[in-house]
Amino acid sequence: EVKRNGRGAWSVFSTEILADMRQERFIERELRAALLLKQLTVHYQPIVDADGQLNSLEALVRWHNPVRGVISPAEFIPVAEKSRLIHDLGLYVMQRVCEDMPQLPGVPVNVNISAWQLKHDAFLRDYIEVLERNGVAPDRVILEITESAMLNTSDDFVARMAEIKRAGFKIALDDFGMGYSEFNQLRRLPFDIIKIDKSYIQNIGTDIVTDTFVSAVTQIAGQMDRIVVAEGIETRDDNVRASVAGCRLFQGYYYQPPVALADITMLYEDPKRLSTAA
Ligand code: C2E
Ligand code: MG
Ligand code: MG
Ligand code: MG
Repeated sequence: EVKRNGRGAWSVFSTEILADMRQERFIERELRAALLLKQLTVHYQPIVDADGQLNSLEALVRWHNPVRGVISPAEFIPVAEKSRLIHDLGLYVMQRVCEDMPQLPGVPVNVNISAWQLKHDAFLRDYIEVLERNGVAPDRVILEITESAMLNTSDDFVARMAEIKRAGFKIALDDFGMGYSEFNQLRRLPFDIIKIDKSYIQNIGTDIVTDTFVSAVTQIAGQMDRIVVAEGIETRDDNVRASVAGCRLFQGYYYQPPVALADITMLYEDPKRLSTAA
């Protein structure tokens, strides 16, 4: 009996792993093709201040696969990171953002990068080359780095981030609070902006530990002259509570979900529309 259960459990386990591996290989192959065929697009989501005025825009990659339909970045970014495609994907997104720049409102654009990309020696040179080719100044770009196990406070890493800042980019620490020795990273790494993860904002006002955490982060950030963005603002209540906890910039479905370039252009070309949206 025991043996049979054991074997049964093992075969279920291995079938699942096999299916995952096939799925990953499918995504890797299709993603490589999508990059070559320029099938990925970029959507933009506003980040607003306390008055609802546009502060910046976050660029978010979008992929519509002919076979599987829309595939979420949460699914394909990890595959790209494993397969080194992340370097090409990052530059592809940066290029798209540069092409869109003339049509976007004149605020900085936040571009996500993976901590894996920073390990690549050519990272900064490649990004600067894309900007120069398109005549875009680095101060139009904020690089968002997701807090992760990859991000560390080694001298190499600190030096690399300092180099990025010297080149004129601002840097944001994304998904802050998801765990990975964050306070040490805050202290040692030269971030300009801290984005508090949406899982905190979604529990704000319902859980004293969350409220205290968010308030502590905004206080520390204030002391260090860093800006805090509350991610995942879905309701008016979220907004009020994040505000009370000391957040001054907000991003979320309550204001605007990520939308295509044409929609952003339409929303922000007419200042009257902006005040109704907010
Ligand atoms: P992120 O950088 O933290 O981006 C915010 C995510 O939260 C986006 O998901 C956005 O659509 C979603 N979001 C915005 N407002 C709300 C809200 O009010 N409620 C909820 N529940 N979600 C909201 P998305 O676009 O699916 O992207 C997921 C993640 O994939 C991003 O998280 C980022 O880490 C990564 N990603 C996206 N584009 C890129 C890229 O070009 N390069 C890299 N390296 N990573 C990217
Ligand atoms: Mg981000
Ligand atoms: Mg992220
Ligand atoms: Mg985030």
